[in-house]
Amino acid sequence: MKKETKAIHTAYQENDPYGALAMPVYHCAAYEFPNAAEMIESFCNRSNKPDYSRVTNPTVIYFENKVKALTEADNVIAFSSGMAAISNALICLSAAGKNIVSSQHMFGNTYAFLNSTLARFNVETKLCDLTNIDEVEKNVDENTCCIYLEIVTNPQLEVADLGQLAAVAKRFNIPLVADTTAIPFTEFEAKKLGVDIEIVSSTKYLSGGGTSIGGLVIDYGTCPGFGKRMKQEMLLNLGAYMTPHVAYMQTLGLETLDARYRMQAGNALELATRLRTVPEICHVNYIGLPDNPYYELSQRQFGPTGGAMLTIELADKESCFSFINRLKLVKRATNLFDNRTLAIHPASTIFGNFTESQLQDMDVSDRIIRISVGLEAVDDIFEDIQQAVKK
Ligand SMILES: *Cc1c(COP(=O)(O)O)cnc(C)c1O
Repeated sequence: MKKETKAIHTAYQENDPYGALAMPVYHCAAYEFPNAAEMIESFCNRSNKPDYSRVTNPTVIYFENKVKALTEADNVIAFSSGMAAISNALICLSAAGKNIVSSQHMFGNTYAFLNSTLARFNVETKLCDLTNIDEVEKNVDENTCCIYLEIVTNPQLEVADLGQLAAVAKRFNIPLVADTTAIPFTEFEAKKLGVDIEIVSSTKYLSGGGTSIGGLVIDYGTCPGFGKRMKQEMLLNLGAYMTPHVAYMQTLGLETLDARYRMQAGNALELATRLRTVPEICHVNYIGLPDNPYYELSQRQFGPTGGAMLTIELADKESCFSFINRLKLVKRATNLFDNRTLAIHPASTIFGNFTESQLQDMDVSDRIIRISVGLEAVDDIFEDIQQAVKK
């Protein structure tokens, strides 16, 4: 089956007694067993029968199975948020005295998780330029437990060479962990690019319409013991499994992901091209524009689309605030890849709790507006942005 078909027709784990065409929501905490032997099998991970919904639930498993079919991963675990997926995976891989090699350029909460939360448990994060492979090599040492990156950083829109990073990771026998939220996994094969563990905030493209918060850890089975430890230790002890209602909504989202994404990415390219003609906009950053510095690398790694996130640079911070205030159609909101177009000033919001010097290190400029392009007609999105930038 092709991906479009798999997204719709992945089979249920068990036949539904009523032939329901949408996976029912199993809103229950626990499951009954016919006898002691089957109970033991389930609790000791020797059978697939669910025992307790902190660890496994039929509606969530169905969602995980669809992602598994689409990515051909060994193991997929759904979490209560993208941050839960990231924190669970990195806690699973690290230990006191270990370090993670990563970049200054990343999602604000991931940055804070690494540099504040994990740092308190004596896990160091070495921040370097992941687009400079020599610098990466110099930072990896015998205590490095993984290389961690975002495939298109937000809001800098930087793309690192995954093949080069994977080669370094392989040489040191550590996993390459990639947050691939920016481009859906239906577009490219992360495993082929050398990614060992893929992490997705399913709140974004996948949920469709921004209905719910969720995250995924997609494990390609190349990091020994990881999948087992995630299931037998992290889910049990940290308790951040996805809830069945969210899995139901995100399963519906997943069924239309490919169609929505292609339209949003098409809109983003058209919008980026048109925004370049607006004199008040100093610069348009979008990896799908052929003269973008990351265009070729992005096309080679992720295929012909450039995602649905772009940034525009205005004259100064004040212009950005007036722009935000004048928007009529485009929503003033965080989140990415909603059906609606969204705009935000990252420096004062998502990164609002960082110091000036941290923002400078992270290359988060206060002249930048991030736009997540939705499914509306491009004419309407363009018209609203155009009127909002006018003095
Ligand atoms: C939103 C986002 C996250 C966090 O996901 P939540 O679902 O909001 O917890 C992590 N990484 C990236 C790249 C994101 O855009």
